[in-house]
Amino acid sequence: MAEKLNPWLNALKQLDKAAKAINLDPGYHQILAHPKRVLEVELPVRMDDGSIKVFVGWRVQHNDARGPCKGGIRYHPNTDVDEVKALAMWMTWKTAVVDLPYGGAKGGVRVDPTKLSKAELERLTRRYAYEIAPIIGVDIDIPAPDVYTNPQTMAWIMDTYSMIKGYPEPGVITGKPLELGGSEGREEATARGLQYVTEEAIRVMKIDPKKSKAAIQGYGNAGYFSAKFMHELGMKVVAVSDTKGAIYNPDGLDPDKVLEHKQKTGSVAGFPGSTLLDKDPVKANEKLLELDVDVLIPAAVENVITDKNADNIKARLIVEAANGPTTPEADDILHERGVTIVPDILSNAGGVTVSYYEWIQARTREWWDIETVRKKLRARMAKSFNDVYNMHKELKVDMRTAALALAVKRVVRAMELRGIWP
Ligand code: GLU
Repeated sequence: MAEKLNPWLNALKQLDKAAKAINLDPGYHQILAHPKRVLEVELPVRMDDGSIKVFVGWRVQHNDARGPCKGGIRYHPNTDVDEVKALAMWMTWKTAVVDLPYGGAKGGVRVDPTKLSKAELERLTRRYAYEIAPIIGVDIDIPAPDVYTNPQTMAWIMDTYSMIKGYPEPGVITGKPLELGGSEGREEATARGLQYVTEEAIRVMKIDPKKSKAAIQGYGNAGYFSAKFMHELGMKVVAVSDTKGAIYNPDGLDPDKVLEHKQKTGSVAGFPGSTLLDKDPVKANEKLLELDVDVLIPAAVENVITDKNADNIKARLIVEAANGPTTPEADDILHERGVTIVPDILSNAGGVTVSYYEWIQARTREWWDIETVRKKLRARMAKSFNDVYNMHKELKVDMRTAALALAVKRVVRAMELRGIWP
């Protein structure tokens, strides 16, 4: 049971499915089933009270056949090396699906960042940056934000790395504050990309957004902006949630007002005019997934849609803002039931795409306006959706397997051309 919810095992199962669909050479399959490099680091931190606390972190580089490794850094109390390995593999597929000149990587630190002061977080971040510095670099591996890390975290990492090098190196990391060479549109990018693929999906599925209801699990960066953009498309956002609760209003919620409430009180719970889906926040989050809505957006963590609840899901369309929210078993059940899933490696690729734009801007020292970023992002996301959709028709497989098949083909082609050395 516990084994089934290991994201790394899920990632391997997804790879198996895609390998079968495209008749992948077993040698290349083996290469892809292992990360290229795994680094574990010990992070001693002087706490504000003078004591020393030791944290553990990882940086995993899964594959760099198509270019430097790329992927975020997550701070979470439950993260472990298997989660980071899975997330790194998904980054390889994600960058390939949207055809960026990158491979895949991910970082993680096992910590509950809500329990640390800002000064403690800075010391932890700088120590982590120092420990992974030997394997990152503007043409090697470029980190970015993920769960519980933000532009400030990126600024500390950029500074620490630049101090080691002796010159400013803004291209070593993306998701930076605008003042340090961040890109316009990076903060909204994951959800903006999700909006563009959702527009494509509802077009082919003939769903009218103005007659549709959406539920969104999670109210961090991806969750909040997804709610905002679905609302802008004309959907009624009837439910949203965070770790402290899930709220419901059949007439629709105003995402900006909900954010204001969360910023004031620390949670979406208690938002005026809404009801709690359950008093227990865990149960409330589970109930949100089973609401009678048209579009469901999981925007929190892995393994929330499983064989336990897949049968109860009523949405026709699931668009994944989180990484790995659906287990392979749930995928099969939902596919059989005719539910369409726009998979994470496509639907949340807007984040890494604008990271790529930020990286180009950092290297050329030329800045693009928000319209340029959005126009380029829209075109890339729409093309990627259609590439995956065509693969889904051609191979007669679900959208996730199609996205993986497309990605694996691109990565393997690069490996074939480069050859196995020596
Ligand atoms: N953490 C984000 C993701 O999972 C963004 C990664 C990046 O920008 O490199 O896609």
